[in-house]
Amino acid sequence: MAGHQLVGPGENAELCVFNSCTVTHIADRSSRQRIRRLKRDNPGAVVIVTGCYAEMSPDAVAALDVDLIVGNEDKDRIVQLATEAGLLYDEDLIPAPDASFPLPESAGGHTRAFVKVQDGCDNHCTYCIVTVARGVGRSRSISDVVAEIRQLRERGYQEAVLTGVHLGSFGHERGERDGLKKLVRAILSETDLPRLRLSSLEPWDLAPDFFELWENPRLCRHLHLPLQSGSDAVLKRMARRTTQKKFCALVESARRAIPGLAVSTDAIVGFPGESEAEFADSLAFIERMNFSRTHIFRFSGRKGTAAYAMPGQVDPQIAQERSQRLHDVAARHERTFRQSLLGQTLPVLWESSEDTPAGTLWSGLTDNYVRVSAFSAQNRHNQITPAFFFDLLPDAVAARISQERSA
Ligand code: SF4
Repeated sequence: MAGHQLVGPGENAELCVFNSCTVTHIADRSSRQRIRRLKRDNPGAVVIVTGCYAEMSPDAVAALDVDLIVGNEDKDRIVQLATEAGLLYDEDLIPAPDASFPLPESAGGHTRAFVKVQDGCDNHCTYCIVTVARGVGRSRSISDVVAEIRQLRERGYQEAVLTGVHLGSFGHERGERDGLKKLVRAILSETDLPRLRLSSLEPWDLAPDFFELWENPRLCRHLHLPLQSGSDAVLKRMARRTTQKKFCALVESARRAIPGLAVSTDAIVGFPGESEAEFADSLAFIERMNFSRTHIFRFSGRKGTAAYAMPGQVDPQIAQERSQRLHDVAARHERTFRQSLLGQTLPVLWESSEDTPAGTLWSGLTDNYVRVSAFSAQNRHNQITPAFFFDLLPDAVAARISQERSA
């Protein structure tokens, strides 16, 4: 395997690989801005751009004067392609770090690792460009993922987050309808990873017995279930394979099976044809669902999708106003969820710290994905410790680490 050493911001990178996104117009713009910044901040570095924006808009990326553009299919061959293009030489490649090689904290430390286990999607949600950019669904083997997680453990990671374009379809192309369940069981039984987290799961992928997995407390009590709209009519136009009734039943059974579960979601406002009545229906449903967090997107038509040409495009000002109304509901629910933790003692994985006049303030995450702040004079980085939650902060919960005498 070709070696490398990760460096943090301002540490003179020799090679920058940027994984771009094209999910909305804003993501396109942000990808362009970040590529420009990478070039500006690392003037001597080779800059390689991959990901969905590079895949869908290679001309726009080329106009930024990058050294190499690599499509999604070739992502795993970046080193080979860069070497063939004369951008890397064998002597540039330091031996692969052994398992104990520490990651610099400036490069993100080694607390939580994102492990991509699946790519592509066989659905055709009418707004989605990602599925066009990534192709059909395909999954890694279970043994390969388990081996990667064992290596991450040896490097000190405490948590792994399983990711994929359509994570819930893990193994489906091999005929394994319960592939994700098997994968989670294998990771929990064949590694000693303290925490395993699942990223976004489409609601129609989860069988009723899926929640049995949470009998193991190492699986984080957090489900991100993208709803997109709480109106059945809009869901139909989006070609989403769920309804209010099915979604509600799923969330209720998950909450029954997993006490303290955080359920977060995504919602799109201003989808083509969304009438005021449909939006009101959606808002009322989201109000009933009490999500711990709602990521809100204003509809952004992407060329190449069915929704791009749909009649009834919503006036941007109306979409903005609906977005604001939904943000108000989301903020209230998010606060309510955090408030429900006050008075409890829960394990926190401490990730980073900053020095303040009052002492070193540590920031971490609970397994149910709440940001926590606590003072500690000790180095808590990458430790999981119990903490008592005593107050709400604007975006976090204030806690006292149980072994500390004072906060
Ligand atoms: S399931 Fe997700 S990735 Fe697949 S088409 Fe729908 S939104 Fe896109």
